[in-house]
Amino acid sequence: MKILLNNNSLFESLRPFNDIGFVPTMGGIHKGHISLINKSNKLCKKTIVSIFVNPKQFNNKKDFMTYPKNIQKDLNILKKSKKVDFVYLPKFNDIYKNKKKSKITLLKKDKILCAKFRKGHFEGVLDVMSKLTKIVNPKRIFMGEKDFQQLYLVKKLLERKYKTKVISCKTIRDKNKVALSSRNFLLNKSSLVKAANIYKKLVNIKKNIKNNKNISNFLKLQKKQLNNNYKIKIDYLELRNEKNLELSKTINNSKLFIAYYINNVRLIDNL
Ligand code: AMP
Repeated sequence: MKILLNNNSLFESLRPFNDIGFVPTMGGIHKGHISLINKSNKLCKKTIVSIFVNPKQFNNKKDFMTYPKNIQKDLNILKKSKKVDFVYLPKFNDIYKNKKKSKITLLKKDKILCAKFRKGHFEGVLDVMSKLTKIVNPKRIFMGEKDFQQLYLVKKLLERKYKTKVISCKTIRDKNKVALSSRNFLLNKSSLVKAANIYKKLVNIKKNIKNNKNISNFLKLQKKQLNNNYKIKIDYLELRNEKNLELSKTINNSKLFIAYYINNVRLIDNL
């Protein structure tokens, strides 16, 4: 596993290869990331993982400051997986040396879910993903369904702009079914138990949706109950079509999306 600390060393190391699988991350490596790496390792000749906590996609400075960062631990886990050929650890200037302002704007119809509650977040994500793709020039990029809206927006942009394919990968959960996330490292045991109970409740809500004529009213009520029972702040609880992310009036081809805070840690999930 070769560690690439700047763009020159990346260009030099990747030059001989044209079948590269890319797994972009912000570190805090867990089994969700490893599942993406395993898929890349199966489908591509070489796998490169990037670790870059992109300041420009954080709409909240405190969230950026407290985001889990432990490069040495991450490198140990990646090395142990034996599936990673290169790890790219860019500095801010490797990505943003071109001072030109990013022209990325979201369509009005895409300003939903996290885009509505985290102003500027996806503009930052799309910008950094576009820059990383230009630098790494991968054949395939592996991304998780856990961040479904991110996957949807990034795929739409990158497959139009570059000759790369964005491959979606299933959400990996812990034994209590909580979706793995680097942010889970910020939760104590009782918060993790709470998150597991919320997941169970969401499964139930999804099951009961089809018995309801007015899904929007049903979900409003469920949101209130979740709020009261678990003392969590919920940004959204919505059923949306998995192809175009429009609000759904039926359970077919739809996913239930949630974003909520436990002890100031923002978690998202979809099922
Ligand atoms: P992050 O480091 O959180 O930015 O995530 C990097 C990539 O890993 C993104 O494509 C995420 O969607 C994906 N990912 C994060 N958590 C999971 C999970 N539990 N299962 C599968 N993929 C995940």
